[in-house]
Amino acid sequence: MNSEIEFITLCKGKILSNQSITPQEAEKIINVSDESLQILSDAANEITRKISGNLVDVESLINAKKGKCQEDCSFCSQSAFYKSGIDTYKLLPADTIVQNARLSKEDGVKSFCLVCAWRGPTQNDFEQICEIISQINDKVGIEVNCSLGFIDESMARRLKELKVKRYNHNLEASRSFFSKICSTHTYDERMNTNMIVKKTGLELCCGGIIGMGETRMQRLELGLDLAKLVPEECPINILVPQKGTPLEMQPRISLSEILRTIAVFRFLMPKTILKIAGGREVYLSSEQEKALLGGANGIITGGYLTIGGNSPDKDFEMISRIGLEA
Ligand code: SF4
Repeated sequence: MNSEIEFITLCKGKILSNQSITPQEAEKIINVSDESLQILSDAANEITRKISGNLVDVESLINAKKGKCQEDCSFCSQSAFYKSGIDTYKLLPADTIVQNARLSKEDGVKSFCLVCAWRGPTQNDFEQICEIISQINDKVGIEVNCSLGFIDESMARRLKELKVKRYNHNLEASRSFFSKICSTHTYDERMNTNMIVKKTGLELCCGGIIGMGETRMQRLELGLDLAKLVPEECPINILVPQKGTPLEMQPRISLSEILRTIAVFRFLMPKTILKIAGGREVYLSSEQEKALLGGANGIITGGYLTIGGNSPDKDFEMISRIGLEA
């Protein structure tokens, strides 16, 4: 154990002196014993505090178009392939979305992410989305992020012109696991949209989902690929099995696996906002602080795409209770 502590300290020192750790070092870190896990979380916390300070990035989402997606992602209750029983709707009216953005701003939330369940927008959908973003800019004035699926370069440029700050497009899983969770598109197609986002100068929000049956090494593989993209933000979702989906009966991932994943992602992406997203309330419950004191520095508040979450009040209270700021 002492040699593990020395190794964690050595790797932390490398990060804090602006160097990267190697994939071999990352592998050693993610495999530390449970006895050393608290030391690992503390080291990830120290890196976070020294590089990014005490600020927690708090974001809210709106599911602007829900369900009936033509893709078959096996974790997703919005896929038309599965009988998940969720309510579905087409793109919400502009007024509804603008009002949600206004309420988020009044709640003290910093950014508002517009999410749509489809493979990618048609030109007509995209024009409507652009109009909605213009209205949020004019009438509310909150930072707008988008998650609209696959987009081409001209769409990315339009979003940039509309002052969209960040575009979310997750890798979801490691390359070696991806075909187990999706057959209607490929890992490389996801990568391609991420490259377009980066090329056009939008900030990139790119992460994935853990607990889908992947191995610890596949979680590391995902972290290594994400780190190569140098995303400004990386959401870590924890699978909440959804009724009717192929992953409905997936056993729960352990708290120890969640915490070691967050910590190693912090070592791999020292400057990125690591956001604990879907599954936070379900898996971490009273231990959500452990994630924010173990490498994470962002949360989604007020619920997710198909499941509820904490209210902003409750989240802001938790953040200040542990000595951090929102
Ligand atoms: S994850 Fe996105 S692309 Fe996949 S089925 Fe769900 S909404 Fe569609």
